[in-house]
Amino acid sequence: MARIFSGIQPSGELHIGNYLGAVKNWTHLQETHPGAIYCVVDYHAITGAYDPAVLRARRWGMAKSLLAAGIDPAKASLFMQSDVPEHTELSWIFTTITPLGDLERQTQFKDKSSKMESIPAGLLMYPVLQSADILLYRADSVPVGEDQVQHLELARDTSRKFNAKFGVEYFPEPKPLLTPTRRIMGLDGNAKMSKSLGNTVGLLESDEEIWQKLRPAMTDPQRVRKSDPGRPEVCNIFQLHKAFSAEPTVEHVRQQCETAGWGCMDCKKVLHEGMVQELTPIRRRAEALDAEPQRVLDALASGAATARGLAQETMRQVREIVGLDGLSLPA
Ligand code: SF4
Repeated sequence: MARIFSGIQPSGELHIGNYLGAVKNWTHLQETHPGAIYCVVDYHAITGAYDPAVLRARRWGMAKSLLAAGIDPAKASLFMQSDVPEHTELSWIFTTITPLGDLERQTQFKDKSSKMESIPAGLLMYPVLQSADILLYRADSVPVGEDQVQHLELARDTSRKFNAKFGVEYFPEPKPLLTPTRRIMGLDGNAKMSKSLGNTVGLLESDEEIWQKLRPAMTDPQRVRKSDPGRPEVCNIFQLHKAFSAEPTVEHVRQQCETAGWGCMDCKKVLHEGMVQELTPIRRRAEALDAEPQRVLDALASGAATARGLAQETMRQVREIVGLDGLSLPA
């Protein structure tokens, strides 16, 4: 059985973009891949400017919403990356075999560093830590979105380099498991759904809050009047229907849109019903966790204990391979 690892940034409570783009898939994979490892990658969250109190609140918000979204501590290990320090230990070893040029070519580094006056070294090393996150658990498969495939390629390369340098077949080459839902656009229809752009719907928002966000959301710009036929495939609302509505409803939406059988507001009301149906149980679970927050801590402690056991064994073997194991008296 392939071992699965995936990580998510502690950005606070989930929004429907990261739920549909990653976490919903994680809840399915924990059924087919017992022992899946899911990590809140909080070391990664400190490569830019941040406020420690805000980070603390966001780590909590992310852990709570992952559990509310259906990550089950009995089936998968959920933990904070910083609770397993072996991530950074392996990362250091990987920095010694990773060419600088490979890191400087990473798209994310080029994008972010081009806007900075002083570039923290951590921003450059970010993908090395990401490789360590995956390989520490000797994961074979990593559920990823299309935009993360480049980082996984670096992890595969690191695995090959390590094995070749030390003449071992120790680390696997992790394969991408592409997440079925393609990237979710924000409600403005212009950019990827992202908290910093303010175009999201929070996973734990009330039915009314969701509706207030859907009402003004961007649709097919060519549909100016109700009598104009629409193009569902270019409309973000239709993409959300595909994620939240049953298949017959999706087909009905397509037909009603293309024939101008209904207006966009009718279409959004049906989407709202689908969203409420899927998100209400998640919100209820989050409320239960708010009432019993110790359950969040217990889940994280148990996940970290499992992860540490695996990570310590990997590092014991890695230290032996690279010559950093315990010394004994010369014979
Ligand atoms: Fe989009 Fe629905 Fe309006 Fe068609 S009817 S343009 S799918 S919101």
